[in-house]
Amino acid sequence: MIALTDPIAIARELIRCPSVTPAEGGALQLLAAILESTGFKVERLRFSQPGTATVENLYARIGEGSPHLMFAGHTDVVPPGESSAWTHPPFSGAIAGEELYGRGAADMKGAIACFVAAACAYLTAHNGKTDGSLSLLITGDEEGAAINGTVKLLKWAAERGIRFDQCLLGEPTNAERLGDAMKIGRRGSLNGTLIVRGKQGHVAYPQLAENPIPVLIGLMNQLMSEPLDHGTEHFDPSRLEFTSVDVGNPTVNLIPDEARARFNIRYNDRHSRDSLKRLIKIRCRNVATQRGRVSLEFAPSNSEVFLTASGPFLDLVVDAVVEITGQTPRLSTSGGTSDARFIKNYCPVVEFGLIGRTIHQIDERVALSDLMALTAIYRLVIDRYFAKRLNPAAHSGSDEATS
Ligand SMILES: [Zn+2]
Repeated sequence: MIALTDPIAIARELIRCPSVTPAEGGALQLLAAILESTGFKVERLRFSQPGTATVENLYARIGEGSPHLMFAGHTDVVPPGESSAWTHPPFSGAIAGEELYGRGAADMKGAIACFVAAACAYLTAHNGKTDGSLSLLITGDEEGAAINGTVKLLKWAAERGIRFDQCLLGEPTNAERLGDAMKIGRRGSLNGTLIVRGKQGHVAYPQLAENPIPVLIGLMNQLMSEPLDHGTEHFDPSRLEFTSVDVGNPTVNLIPDEARARFNIRYNDRHSRDSLKRLIKIRCRNVATQRGRVSLEFAPSNSEVFLTASGPFLDLVVDAVVEITGQTPRLSTSGGTSDARFIKNYCPVVEFGLIGRTIHQIDERVALSDLMALTAIYRLVIDRYFAKRLNPAAHSGSDEATS
């Protein structure tokens, strides 16, 4: 049996579980065994939906009532790619040169191991008790469709009256050094298609046809040239990027009757999905010479922009990072989406984990010293969380003193 307070040993065992989405790979089984032996009540939850793979998830809790600190993460990993290209096999958990190699080392089995080790150490030091509730919400469906994972776990918990006060999500947030960045929000994401309809005809008789391509190019130029905004306090400027231009015309002597361009917008807290749709429509209308020929379609999206308000919990996590790493983390909202977009509907969420430089790559790896430091950070967070008895009311009160 591995030492339950040793994050390196736990991380190695987790990496040895080949849990490529949607496979459980033994990773949740391992976590359940460790957490149950420490006194957590563990529930294994399988969620399914027609047309998607069934996914296993885990919810573990110790203690009762509030304050309730939840740690969130995922044990599933992306495929390793060409295994022979790895310096050490991707599911071997090899240690070389003071680094731990393996798929999921940074994203994010390493951080889960750190949190489990920190929680076990805390419980050992406090006779197995917490002054409130501590829980882990671990999904196996983060790298996949994200349908049978965190969304359903949160709903399942809410239906049972489980309330979370704060969440710490262990995604890899640091760029170069442990302590350089944490995430306090995420940009929203919106996918759209610009469609221009013309009139098909012989290319030698353009006067008898209406070519949609020049109109589409004009619209694209307009949407690319004018900024959507200039950024906000915590967010970069919103960006519209075209991802595809499609005419699908195999013929050389035919003016097509339709041209399309697909785009994605990563947007900040100056916009909502609806306000952004209106803005794009207005800008297209200003350019289109022949109205009615241009239309816009938007795909459904579950990635709305959000920002976690500053308050005692954010201060507590920042202080712990500063104390252990000597660095003041940048409060970032950059990068892609994460399960924080779902969790934020239930409680405030802050993201802090390992360094993201090698994630999803051949030779994904983390420094052993970072695993030890992250465990120390998580331990400080847990210690102070229960010592200060942070609760939701503290979020609105300005009289709450934080050191
Ligand atoms: Zn991840």
